[in-house]
Amino acid sequence: MEKSSMPSVYDPESFRKTGHKLIDTLADHLDQSNQGLTEKVIRWNKPNEEHEFWKDFLVHGENTELFSEVIKHSTHVHHPNYMGHQVSPTAPITALSGMVSALLNNGMAVYEMGMASSAMERIVTDWLCAKIGFDTSSRGFLTSGGTLANLTALLSARKAIVGQNSRNKGNTRPLGIMVSEQAHYCVDRAAKIMGLGEQGIIKIPTTEGYAMDVSLLETAYKKATKEGIYIFAIVGSAPSTATGIFDDLEVLGRFSKAHNLWFHVDGAHGGAGIFSTKYKFTVKGIHQADSVVIDGHKMLMLPTITTALLFKNGTHSHATFSQTADYLLVQSSDEDWYNLAKRTFECTKSMMSMHWYTLLKTYGETIFDEYLTRLYDLGHQFGEFIAKETDFELAVQPMSNIVCFRYRTSHCDAETLNRINEKIRQSLLEAGEFYIVQTKLRGVHYLRTTLMNPFTTEEHLKTLLKRIKSIALTTEKATT
Ligand SMILES: *Cc1c(COP(=O)(O)O)cnc(C)c1O
Repeated sequence: MEKSSMPSVYDPESFRKTGHKLIDTLADHLDQSNQGLTEKVIRWNKPNEEHEFWKDFLVHGENTELFSEVIKHSTHVHHPNYMGHQVSPTAPITALSGMVSALLNNGMAVYEMGMASSAMERIVTDWLCAKIGFDTSSRGFLTSGGTLANLTALLSARKAIVGQNSRNKGNTRPLGIMVSEQAHYCVDRAAKIMGLGEQGIIKIPTTEGYAMDVSLLETAYKKATKEGIYIFAIVGSAPSTATGIFDDLEVLGRFSKAHNLWFHVDGAHGGAGIFSTKYKFTVKGIHQADSVVIDGHKMLMLPTITTALLFKNGTHSHATFSQTADYLLVQSSDEDWYNLAKRTFECTKSMMSMHWYTLLKTYGETIFDEYLTRLYDLGHQFGEFIAKETDFELAVQPMSNIVCFRYRTSHCDAETLNRINEKIRQSLLEAGEFYIVQTKLRGVHYLRTTLMNPFTTEEHLKTLLKRIKSIALTTEKATT
């Protein structure tokens, strides 16, 4: 009989040894990254080269080198020159809670498959609800990402406003939602999944400053209604992803009340503003929402994926999916908050509540204020630098830690300028000293930074602008 591998797979001593070594490796990585000592944020490889590397590694690589190679081949979000996508440099202790979750692997669908994490989930979501300004009839749950949370919220909205029929019979009449044209693409995706079709997504144009133009709401609503579309929800972005600009939640709250609409706030990025004494105003009116999404992995230092979906009226948090899954869920007449799969789209999920709980327990609530406030401050500061430079322009005055800007010169036409900015971003990526991203706004190509690292300083930002200028000059010579 062949010898079983199982004893070695589950061997505690080898886990201990590898684990200790890995913690050392990760701590060294963190030390180097935090201080910006690793020369690169990203060692850029073309997708096909990367694919070849890992195919080869599978056959010839040393097991002991695996994790350190993964580190080398990954983007270093803890580096102060990381200014790209909106994922946070995780508070390192949450890497440890992540490990606990992976090993214990409690699947969370039913209470006894995650007693600790289910109870923690109740505590964490109650705490978030209170911070939003909801009363004790509110409830929430954690789910796998802002995208899924937005879909879930819209399903709740349809159930609450339109009624049971849509789920069982499909949409028996044309339904619609209202949302800013700048909203995250996942809202559009969710609406299409729900069968609303293109005509059911009433996109409200934005002001010059990229916020939803609320002066157009009444007309858009009347027009859609006249065309036979039953609008049941309105979505506010807090902020919208590309520009970091906030919709006026107070106005949206009033509008939704006047028309009996569900008011959903997509606060995946900036919902965390509820913690900031200084920046709370950015989400003024959020307490009027029927549902709110907040991503922990964006502005709360948590690992991916950690998302909260919070409901003003707790009943809606378990009404959305009420259906039988007899093998899993026993019908009950009480609120049954602890059987979480009754509320979430997913069945199995990770013990994500532990990350929030661990941070809260270890450092207390004030760190969330400190983190967000520091980064929004930095966003404003960067905006000021750029505004002073003749070679650069802002897309819009930043309201958060998201800053869109571009290199400009009077020598080039619009298309050439777009190409130059595109090249700048590609050169930065390939050089790897900084990591930033890009976006197109009204046909104009912008460089986009999200300042995510509390150790990023003015000096880093000034160096970035210097590098961009020097790339721009070379590119401009080559293009003109
Ligand atoms: C990031 C983001 C999302 C998507 O959230 P994921 O957690 O990435 O799925 C949705 N809406 C907004 C406004 C976002 O910034």
